[in-house]
Amino acid sequence: MEYKLKTIGVLTSGGDAPGMNAAVRAVTRAAISNGIAVKAIYRGYKGLMDGEIQTFSSENVSGIIQRGGTILRSARSEEFKTAEGRKKAYETIRKEKIDALIVIGGDGTFTGARTLAQEYNIPIIGIPGTIDNDLWGTDATIGYDTALNTIMNCVDILRDTATSHERVFLVEVMGRDAGFLTLNAALASGAETAIIPERTTIMEQIEEAIGQGRRKSKGTSIVLVQEHAIEGGAQAVAKMIEKAHPEYGTRVTILGHLQRGGSPSAFDRILASRMGIAAVQALLEEQRSVMVGLQDGEITYVPLSKAIKEKKDVKADKWQALQVLSI
Ligand code: ATP
Repeated sequence: MEYKLKTIGVLTSGGDAPGMNAAVRAVTRAAISNGIAVKAIYRGYKGLMDGEIQTFSSENVSGIIQRGGTILRSARSEEFKTAEGRKKAYETIRKEKIDALIVIGGDGTFTGARTLAQEYNIPIIGIPGTIDNDLWGTDATIGYDTALNTIMNCVDILRDTATSHERVFLVEVMGRDAGFLTLNAALASGAETAIIPERTTIMEQIEEAIGQGRRKSKGTSIVLVQEHAIEGGAQAVAKMIEKAHPEYGTRVTILGHLQRGGSPSAFDRILASRMGIAAVQALLEEQRSVMVGLQDGEITYVPLSKAIKEKKDVKADKWQALQVLSI
């Protein structure tokens, strides 16, 4: 389809992630510097359906690079999953004369984008913004590095207080279906082990972790548990330990939404800035239905279909490292 790129729409959707603002800023300024108008869409697909839209100038994105969350707000919308919902979204796109969309979000956001693009032949570019880092085709997603650092700092603080003997501290970490955050945070914080969906040998790992901890007379063991590695999360693991080893005390900390907040790290700000510019560039090159990725330090483009469908596995050497380092 021939189209003139005069106006782009930008939205953030799904779970918010630190660095989304930096991406919105980069998209806005890259577009404006190429003579393209920017319409900011509030509350993700919900705002697209409801027409919650504001034309952005460069000043609208001033002073936001350091702010967590997203100034555009995010939302989850069941209605957008229906054909009627997407029709409403398309009506807004036509009414607002939006020629192309840039969507910042995760797996669900891209699934919705792909369907909308197919149904209405709209150019859409995805920017991976999720703390989970669970998208195929990119080494990092915006927000992941900040969340990783937040978790590491929380575990460091917990470790300071974890002085009593024979206690197992279980820290529940987010991540949807993926263990990247949990495994990497465990490595960074020197935890005894990580319970992740990709490797599930829970009791064996616990026995090993506690056993080794005792051999070294560490007293305290720190175990990171991915929220969905087991039904019931860290609480469920605590129950398993208490049943098998009534002599141990367990302490559960659920980090919850702490992990989503905070000022983005330098890495996330730079990544978001590069990806925002690259998303506009993709539209100028008439690419469609691709996600901007980062591979070996370079910006790449990956079909949305692949980013959604393919499964990224945790790195085997990192898993090994955790075992080696917890003796
Ligand atoms: P995160 O990984 O941080 O949770 P996400 O983008 O995966 O982010 P979701 O809540 O799964 O977050 O998806 C965001 C929105 O995308 C949903 O609220 C919905 O509007 C839309 N969406 C998700 N799945 C689909 C689908 N299968 N078809 C159409 N739209 C969808």
